[in-house]
Amino acid sequence: TNSLASQLIQVHEQAVTLYHHVLMNTKLGQPALEYLKKRGLTDETIEKYQLGFAPGQRLLKPFFEEKKTDFKLLRKSGLFSENDSGDIYDRFVDRVMFPIRNENGKTVAFSGRLLVKDPESPKYLNSPETEIFNKRKVLFNLDSARLSIRKNDPAILLEGFMDVISADQAGIHSGIASMGTSLTDQQVYDISRITSQVVISYDGDTPGQKAIKRAIDSFANNSKVAVKIVTVPDGLDPDEFVRQRGADQFMELVKHASSPIDFELQFMKKQYNLESEVDVSNYISEALSVIAKEPSPITRDLYVNKVATEFGVGKELLTSRLVPLIQSNQ
Ligand code: ATP
Ligand code: MN
Ligand code: MN
Ligand code: MN
Repeated sequence: TNSLASQLIQVHEQAVTLYHHVLMNTKLGQPALEYLKKRGLTDETIEKYQLGFAPGQRLLKPFFEEKKTDFKLLRKSGLFSENDSGDIYDRFVDRVMFPIRNENGKTVAFSGRLLVKDPESPKYLNSPETEIFNKRKVLFNLDSARLSIRKNDPAILLEGFMDVISADQAGIHSGIASMGTSLTDQQVYDISRITSQVVISYDGDTPGQKAIKRAIDSFANNSKVAVKIVTVPDGLDPDEFVRQRGADQFMELVKHASSPIDFELQFMKKQYNLESEVDVSNYISEALSVIAKEPSPITRDLYVNKVATEFGVGKELLTSRLVPLIQSNQ
């Protein structure tokens, strides 16, 4: 068909080819190619993801003008920005280009990463919302990851594009990522349609850990998907971890992934000073309200035991405090 959507996709596929050509075969692309190689990506991976480079000079505008592509179509593509007099300019300049594919494998947007740090400019710049791109719906790599997820691998939800690409190159093919936003209900729903197990591994920094907490709640409220959490050690992100220690070590972390309760208890604990008795008492109260949300009585009992042992408090006392909390949840 020749619908607007298919025309916009066609413009994107032409842009993918051009950005990729600039990266692989031109002098302009050399620093970007060296950068990606230095980050450990092989030619095969760069091919697979059709990574590209948007140079520091206009590229798409003259290209599409030459092809006599409809100006109105270009304006709707999100690949250009526009000034007050209605002239358009390449939106992506001096950026390594990551094509963003929808679940059918069609490129519907780009994310561009700055090659050189610039405090004035965001590290990653995404396409704006368009007729074919809604950043709250797309999951990076889902079209490719679903093949391995269908073979019963859990979906691995990572924070960034480089985490997904690195993991894939190392042999972990079921990685997906949201578009730098927190996970939406729509994305949770789409994941729940293809798998019943998700492993979340975001960055170990505070924003990453807070985002995990939100993702856990979102899966719990909107799906029956079983969630586990991998915390990558030593302040590394999954990309750095996989590169330094390998995919097997990462899969070892996945094998010992924490349950949401474990994660929440660890996360909360960091906010208390456990040298102080008042804080210990407050932590235990908060821990009990987390445990009360757990539907399985056996699991609740296990965690009550854990907390009792950890702080040397009577188990009967904790249980008696837990009962009213469970009732108020029902
Ligand atoms: P890299 O390894 O290339 O530095 P990263 O994936 O580790 O990238 P983070 O800073 O951890 O980068 O961010 C995680 C994800 O959040 C990115 O992959 C991107 O999707 C998104 N992101 C990061 N910075 C921005 C930004 N300034 N604007 C929009 N999205 C962003
Ligand atoms: Mn991060
Ligand atoms: Mn990173
Ligand atoms: Mn990161």
